[in-house]
Amino acid sequence: MTYPHLLAPLDLGFTQLRNRVLMGSMHTGLEDRSRDFPRLARYFSERAKGGVGLIVTGGFAPNIEGWLSPFGAMLATSAAARRHRVLPEAVHAEGGKIALQILHAGRYGFTPLAVAPSKLKAPINRFTPRALSASGIERQIRAFVRCAALARDAGYDGVEVMGSEGYFINQFLAAQTNRRDDDWGGSYENRMRLPVEIVSRIREKVGRDFILIYRLSMLDLVPGGSEWGEVVALAKAIERAGATLINTGIGWHEARVPTIATSVPRAAFAWVTKKLKGEVSIPLVTTNRINDPQVAEEVLASGCADMVSLARPFLADPAFVRKAAEGRADEINTCIACNQACLDHVFEGRVSTCLVNPAACREEEFASKPAAIPKRVAVVGAGPAGLSCATTLAERGHAVTLFEASSAIGGQFNLAKRIPGKEEFEETLRYFKRRLELTGVDVRLNARADAGGLTGYDEVVLATGVVPRNPGLKGGDDPRVVSYVSVLRGEVPAGTRVIIIGAGGIGFDVATYLSEEEASITLDAKRWRRAWGVADPAQVRGGVTKPEPEPSPRKITLLQRKSTRPGAGLGKTTGWIHRSALRAKGVEMLAGVNYEGVVREGLAVSFGEEREKATVIPADTIVICAGQEPLAELAEPLRARGMKVHLIGGASRAGELDAQRAIEEGIRVALAI
Ligand code: FAD
Ligand code: NAP
Ligand code: SF4
Repeated sequence: MTYPHLLAPLDLGFTQLRNRVLMGSMHTGLEDRSRDFPRLARYFSERAKGGVGLIVTGGFAPNIEGWLSPFGAMLATSAAARRHRVLPEAVHAEGGKIALQILHAGRYGFTPLAVAPSKLKAPINRFTPRALSASGIERQIRAFVRCAALARDAGYDGVEVMGSEGYFINQFLAAQTNRRDDDWGGSYENRMRLPVEIVSRIREKVGRDFILIYRLSMLDLVPGGSEWGEVVALAKAIERAGATLINTGIGWHEARVPTIATSVPRAAFAWVTKKLKGEVSIPLVTTNRINDPQVAEEVLASGCADMVSLARPFLADPAFVRKAAEGRADEINTCIACNQACLDHVFEGRVSTCLVNPAACREEEFASKPAAIPKRVAVVGAGPAGLSCATTLAERGHAVTLFEASSAIGGQFNLAKRIPGKEEFEETLRYFKRRLELTGVDVRLNARADAGGLTGYDEVVLATGVVPRNPGLKGGDDPRVVSYVSVLRGEVPAGTRVIIIGAGGIGFDVATYLSEEEASITLDAKRWRRAWGVADPAQVRGGVTKPEPEPSPRKITLLQRKSTRPGAGLGKTTGWIHRSALRAKGVEMLAGVNYEGVVREGLAVSFGEEREKATVIPADTIVICAGQEPLAELAEPLRARGMKVHLIGGASRAGELDAQRAIEEGIRVALAI
């Protein structure tokens, strides 16, 4: 496979980018303190070495009023600019280019110092911003300009002005957040004055030979957002003001439409950038859910944009571009858009990393060295834990045999990938299949290992995973009571009235699986847009209309014993998507449930400690999704024989197990042997 459009250089007049791939801005948590800059430099350096055309840093506030959070990333002084120098230097040493993103949070700032065009609290923030005076606005513009000049002093190749995602500049553009009646509010011309002033004054200050990207919100996905005529007018004005590139912004953070989660179709929003082609003559960058070189190539070949922006795919694989260029696209560790280790971490105040690549942002810690003494190692179980362990061990020079009881590698990921909207999980299996070939692991499928058979090895790693928990339901031997495993494997058909016991990640996934009748909407962008109410901004202001979810073929009731909100434990940035998708399908979610037993009509339940409101929920099928127990039966017999045994993934601990922990534990053990 070749990628002529993707790999073509882009001439910007005063400089050239080596290809059409921009690494989009991502806040990793390493931007906030300069003592983390060496680590950030190493992270950027790996991506530059991997061949990306232009890197954009995470957002830096131009002043305290623009902070995303107290004492967060900011570039406002010469001393700070000096501390930044290690970042562009690291990128330049690898032949790359890097731009600093200037991000003013406006009313999204999690600080009492937040400012905005009007005193209107964002629905996703508890702080109410202060409305700026005219001189206050002038101060913000000057801060943007100073920040850009400092970026230039620090050695960056350019800046990106963050004008989308609902931040400060966006808040000026939309009438619903800008209620001013001075020169900065009212007519659209007035509302767009701020970004145009910022761009033209930055250009004036930094000169012509400095990359200036403007991230333009092309689809706000909030009621009252911009309509298409306004987007075009702004793009033209931004070009006149001196921008080098226009990048695409999709959706404000407060939008109720998913824009980057795994259930969003690939390249779902490239059509929006395409609408702007021909309206301006500077290059356009498109973005969102582009995680594969072939998809990127098609987006460019079909004239949607001049460049593609990929962000999370560079956490998953720093060598994405190099592998594509060398005809090794099948070796790319694909971002599955789960958000679990990147965005969710940031929202929890932790440094980002990646579920499929735990070395992301921890390059030093996970650096692999050849084994001092090559050993013969048996890895039992080819789920995510066993796969990451076996391949890392083999790369380090150990002789590895991987035993898998079933006919395929992947463990529970083989069930996960069947969930509508989780098709990406197959990519991780494709990646490991190829890596097993490349590393020469001796893979034995249909080979259930037993303690007696594991002889001739120096060490054994048990990655045998989990077994579903049997909750000991009264009447649980009724044929209507089934495990999620049988349902997802298609071994038992589900009836039209289904009860799901357990509202964890798997309970939610099973509800999703059973509430979709046709092929997954993630594979059909038109049906997906209808289900989530995404419209053409040329027809509907903000590009958002009433969602029309496809009806569920079943009546589904999802139950849990805890009295907390069902789904509260799901991912911080994705839980709301799962909850609203199921609500839209009419799935009933009940908390504080006592399971009294299976009866003729269905499941007898009561509620709360007092066992009140006893009732029977009718059901043809009751699916058990009550968590897991570790499967580690081989450990003791092996240890009794004096064998050195390591337990990883579900085999070591089933509570709070997810693929992130499984993959990371696999690598850590492999690096220690
Ligand atoms: P497993 O995946 O269970 O793999 C264990 C392997 O060992 C199996 O292949 C098994 O056949 C094999 N084995 C067992 N005994 C032997 C033996 N004696 N000899 C040889 N082989 C043996 N996690 C997330 O992080 N995010 C998600 O979105 C997500 N979604 C999920 C959706 C579903 C529907 C399911 C079921 C799980 C999901 N998970 C998700 C959980 C994730 O898949 C597990 O945490 C992960 O697979 C655990 O990895 P593991 O390698 O420890 O065990
Ligand atoms: P889980 O998230 O721990 O949920 C288990 C559910 O079973 C809970 O709702 C729990 O709620 C219930 N339960 C526990 N013991 C029970 C018992 N004895 N009787 C009845 N109900 C019981 O586990 P999971 O759903 O099996 O998921 C496994 C792992 O895969 C999770 O850790 C998750 O991170 C991961 N996963 C993640 C995603 C994702 O989208 N990120 C999706 C799927 C899976 P009550 O105790 O309140 O009843
Ligand atoms: Fe992609 Fe998930 Fe890794 Fe984030 S954690 S980069 S979404 S694979």
